[in-house]
Amino acid sequence: MREILPKDDEKILADGNINNDTNEDGTIFIPMLALKGLTVFPGNKITFDVGREKSIKALEKAMGTDSKIFLVTQKSVSVDDPNEDDVFKMGTICQVKQLMRFTDDRLRVLVEGIKKAEIIEISEQEPFLSAKVLEIDDEKPEEDEKEKLEALFRTFLKILDEYEKLNPKVIGETIKLLLDIEDIRHFTYEAASILPIGFEQKQTLLEEATTQSRLESLLLMLSKELEIFRLEKEIAAKVQKQLETLHKEQFLREQIKVIQNELGEGDSSGLSEYKSKIEAAELPLEVKEKAIKELGRLERMNSGYAEAQILRTYLDLILDLPWSISTEESDDLIKAEEILNRDHYGLEKVKERILEYLAVNKFKKSLHGPIICLLGPPGVGKTSIARSIAESLNRKYVRMSLGGMKDEAEIRGHRKTYIGAMPGRIITSIKTAGSNNPLILLDEIDKLGNDYKGDPSSALLEVLDSEQNSTFRDNFLELPFDLSKVLFMTTANGYEGIPRALLDRMEVIEVSSYTDEEKFNIAKKYLFPKQVEIHGLSIMNITIDDDAIFDVINGYTSEAGVRNLERECATICRKIARALAMTKRKSYKVSQANLIKLLGSKKRLNNKALEKDEIGVATGLAWTSVGGVTLSIEVNVLPGTGRIDLTGRLGDVMKESAKAALSYIRSRADSFGIEQNFYEKHDIHIHIPEGGTPKDGPSAGITMATAIVSALTGNPVKKTVAMTGEITLRGKVLPIGGLKEKSLAALRIGIKTIIIPIDNKKDVEELPASVKKGIKFIYAQHMDEVLKIALCRNVFKTNLSKASGNDILVKHSTQTPEINVENVNIDLM
Ligand code: ADP
Repeated sequence: MREILPKDDEKILADGNINNDTNEDGTIFIPMLALKGLTVFPGNKITFDVGREKSIKALEKAMGTDSKIFLVTQKSVSVDDPNEDDVFKMGTICQVKQLMRFTDDRLRVLVEGIKKAEIIEISEQEPFLSAKVLEIDDEKPEEDEKEKLEALFRTFLKILDEYEKLNPKVIGETIKLLLDIEDIRHFTYEAASILPIGFEQKQTLLEEATTQSRLESLLLMLSKELEIFRLEKEIAAKVQKQLETLHKEQFLREQIKVIQNELGEGDSSGLSEYKSKIEAAELPLEVKEKAIKELGRLERMNSGYAEAQILRTYLDLILDLPWSISTEESDDLIKAEEILNRDHYGLEKVKERILEYLAVNKFKKSLHGPIICLLGPPGVGKTSIARSIAESLNRKYVRMSLGGMKDEAEIRGHRKTYIGAMPGRIITSIKTAGSNNPLILLDEIDKLGNDYKGDPSSALLEVLDSEQNSTFRDNFLELPFDLSKVLFMTTANGYEGIPRALLDRMEVIEVSSYTDEEKFNIAKKYLFPKQVEIHGLSIMNITIDDDAIFDVINGYTSEAGVRNLERECATICRKIARALAMTKRKSYKVSQANLIKLLGSKKRLNNKALEKDEIGVATGLAWTSVGGVTLSIEVNVLPGTGRIDLTGRLGDVMKESAKAALSYIRSRADSFGIEQNFYEKHDIHIHIPEGGTPKDGPSAGITMATAIVSALTGNPVKKTVAMTGEITLRGKVLPIGGLKEKSLAALRIGIKTIIIPIDNKKDVEELPASVKKGIKFIYAQHMDEVLKIALCRNVFKTNLSKASGNDILVKHSTQTPEINVENVNIDLM
């Protein structure tokens, strides 16, 4: 059982005999030794070394008398010759148990603490310190504080236990010693001496007036220590973990490097290669500096990072871009004309305008003029003209399709910080060209989209603006690139869809549909020989009959341009190649007779002329972005209540045009011999087949009127007649646009007569001779005239001249396309 109530000091202390030199006031004079960073408690046995002369002398003095010495701790360890202010007030009177001399000036001393004492004064400074001290006893605890002391004691033990578990090495053994101590006061002194706390804290413990307060302080300090220790451990664990991950990463990185080196993708070699490439490349100063900076970043970066990959792409781009490479331009217009003629049949007007444009540029010696836009249906040779122009000017050629482009970043690129960042299409095109003065063809500029990600057309404006494009900045490249030497050209299928601001900067050159004769010549002189060459058949004797070519044009294709025709020529060559390869034949002649063998039976075409004259069905003509098309407009008159149904995805303009036609018919009902109130008892249904394709525009006005009159009067429409024209309420026929395309479409399906507005007469003169030869154009000023020609029988019961009185003349532009068939399928034609 441990004694909770402490014994008197004298009892603890073995052979304490300190009262010998006691003064009357209870003080004693005693040699004193100042300790550096060490506190001795009563009951402690401590060994320490002494080197200071004064201390040695004090010890010698003590040994010469009663072996007692007063040990007190210095406030600062750095003071060598302390006086009264440099030491704490309270210390311990100790018994010198053993003294060993190491050398002349060094002693090892073993002392045992006897009793606490307080300095009253330092009586002597020389030759050693000696003090007048007053012995202090711990206050005796009250009886009733016994439980509290016991509780404190147990708590302390518990914490000590925890501390020991966390830190067994430091205090494992000493704890055992502590637990052997029976006296609680002695315990507190021993604990204070053993615990790993600073000397200031030990001094506080020494100065505690009671065992209980000392135990409380001890408890507090130990808890704090424990907490700090726990935190330290936690931090150490975290640090350890981080170190481990770091090591792991480093280890893995090293492994990657080794693997890459093994695979010949060695990181370091790649980087040094960049360095030498940058040095060798003729880069402008700003570009070179940037390249070196980014290479520095790459070197510091782990090669596995996504960003490192982007930086590599970036450096590759900088090195690949033709900063100062350009091809030597040619301004030889004769040669240009030769090349244009060599590659293209016909297109006289187009070639003429292109040569004029090039001539102007030659004299101005700049490209600051408008940008050429080749406008026309697919397959008419727009791209191929651009390629020829590039060749004739000795510029590299790059085609950049704008169809469906919605994001501005596609033009201008993504910033490097963006995942999967890439340069824009302009810079990519320059890179592909490999020279800084290529011809870049911006294909399908009318198909440019825009959405929430920005408007690519505004980025294009900057690209095309010669005032701004000398310092074009791509977001990815982050460096200005001079585009002023680039010759930009554009293509479009129609005006609609070309951003207005871009259209303003362009000189539009229309390339229109081909007639059958033109197609024939193109196929015979260009497409077929080209395909024979491509298929490696040029060494054989391959020929094609003219009739067979016409058969291909009319039986297997239906288009404004010659793209499908070229495809069919390719098919023919493929089949011939196979036939020759599998037999011993050396030649092949394609004729009407063997065409079916090569291309299969003729394809069914959507658009055919009507088979017979029909009541309520008239043939209209429309202009679309893929060329002209014919439309058969059907009308049914059924008993009903005066409803008008319009079906076939007709736009608003077309619907209004139908109503205008009906108004005209109502006003002329008498002349047609139909009941005045016919519209009250009948429903009229107007339908334009190819119901899935949206249609709009006013030019079907006279065709709808014809079909309705035919249906109401039972008078059939001539199947060989087609018509196009806008109608007014009074029946006046207004002019239309796209006459060439429309006529060609009509010719294709075997129409012999086309009724057109009289104001379009001038356009007929411009038409190809073959069209004028194949089609009879009839000019109409008024709807009455249209009906007279289009219907099989005369429809008028009364005199015509009275009818068309007060016409309102509406001005109408011939430029606007009328029936606009979006997303039109080429088969429609
Ligand atoms: P687009 O760009 O107008 O759609 P392309 O230039 O792609 O048309 O022309 C399609 C094919 O037809 C190309 O092989 C082109 O060389 C050929 N072609 C078009 N027009 C002519 C022409 N007038 N003479 C010779 N070949 C032509």
